[in-house]
Amino acid sequence: MSGNGENIHAFMVSFPAQGHVNPLLRLGRRLANFGAAVTFCAPEAAGASIRKASKISDAEQPTPCGAGSIRFEFFDDGWDFDNPNRDDICAYLAQLEAVGREKLPQLIGKEAELGRPVSCVINNPFIPWVCDVAKTLGIPSAMLWVQSCACFSAYYHYYHGVVPFPTEQHPETDVQLPCLPLLKHDEFPDFLHPRTPYVVLRDVILGQFRNLSIPFCVFMDTFQELEHENIQYMSGLIGRPIKTVGPLFKELERHAGAASQSQSKAFRADFFAAEDCVGWLDSKPPRSVVYISFGSIVHLPQEQVDEIANGLADSWVAFLWVVRPPPREKNWKAHVLPEGFVDRVGERGRIVQWSPQEEVLAHPSTACFMTHCGWNSTMEALASGVPVVAFPQWGDQVTNAKFLVDVYKVGVRMCRGEAEGRLVPRDEVATVLEAAVTGPRAEEMRTNALNWKKAAEAAVAEGGSSYRNMQYFVDEVARFSDKLK
Ligand code: UDP
Repeated sequence: MSGNGENIHAFMVSFPAQGHVNPLLRLGRRLANFGAAVTFCAPEAAGASIRKASKISDAEQPTPCGAGSIRFEFFDDGWDFDNPNRDDICAYLAQLEAVGREKLPQLIGKEAELGRPVSCVINNPFIPWVCDVAKTLGIPSAMLWVQSCACFSAYYHYYHGVVPFPTEQHPETDVQLPCLPLLKHDEFPDFLHPRTPYVVLRDVILGQFRNLSIPFCVFMDTFQELEHENIQYMSGLIGRPIKTVGPLFKELERHAGAASQSQSKAFRADFFAAEDCVGWLDSKPPRSVVYISFGSIVHLPQEQVDEIANGLADSWVAFLWVVRPPPREKNWKAHVLPEGFVDRVGERGRIVQWSPQEEVLAHPSTACFMTHCGWNSTMEALASGVPVVAFPQWGDQVTNAKFLVDVYKVGVRMCRGEAEGRLVPRDEVATVLEAAVTGPRAEEMRTNALNWKKAAEAAVAEGGSSYRNMQYFVDEVARFSDKLK
């Protein structure tokens, strides 16, 4: 089934991080389901991992996906994989921009020569210069914001200096953003706090607000019903439509026929191969397992890992825990589990290096999700109807934790973030996890989570808010393309 996208060729450019690649590729799958041809482009730094871990082909010819197609295009960022500068995000971003500004026009030009001219360019944050490239080439562009609209608002207001944020002199100032609850000094994206050690990341994210006037629309992996008032407000403020299309990991209902869905879902871009743990989950009673993952970047101190492990061993909960090796380019020590841990927990626990998270969250045995509250994990938990135990560390994670617990009311907190400087002790780990599975609030959190799941499903159903926004985009790009003919 198509949706007016047949004459569209969307050229998507992603920053090479799992949390950026996932939502952009999911958006690509959506566009393909509307009939569009999609080229998914990223630096080879991501390509090498994706090719190894996921079954994708980056052949010249597109692969059919839904009513359209997807093709992967990885480009050399000019640095060897073991270049020590890769660990320096600032240096890497400068390198990527220099190479990308030269290579993207060539790659986009090649598509026109092959008879498939590009009709729109879509990028995600950290690489705002992609919009400049599109503008120079006279191609309309859009940006996919990969965090919540609440965080978008925080960055926007900080960038324009129109709302007071904490300063060196007043580090404990709370932040009041329009249409949002008051955010305590440790609840807004903490890259914006003067004490942040991640100044570079703050500047990189703010870079996207420098040229926000170029993209003709801003996509967000959220949905109207979740952040309604704020989305309306921010859309008016930035003077271009904010189009919520989330939750992107859910297929649009109209395209969700079994065959089309499984074909579309096959387009994955994991940097690590997922270990099969579904059989193990099958062997557990309904709503009995705590799923634990801290995403693709967070690396907890070894002492915290020791406390979590000992807390799990002391408790009675069953758990599936992702203990990921450190990323290749980081000089971090791999985590070590306490001696005898695996024997102590036996069949009650399962450790994997990478999980098929969407399947795990959809599994009936999963009771709750102890998460670092990255935005993808947040959306995946909400849209799967799974309550959370919030274990945020930095950036937007602390804001997502606030919303999950206090606004969406689907979770409890285990900590407030890295800046708190607190080691969560083993007895607290055990008590909070046991309460999240069977305590007095467990049922209430589950009910609230299931309500959000229903709202998410309605958003992507035909005629739902996210569905209509996809159709808007496809129609707009088709209209631009017609004008150029
Ligand atoms: N993920 C996964 N398996 C894992 C851990 C994470 O598939 O074992 C996926 C998860 O579903 C999500 C992404 O990796 O889509 C992590 O993104 P998120 O924004 O939650 O966190 P980040 O990695 O950017 O900190």
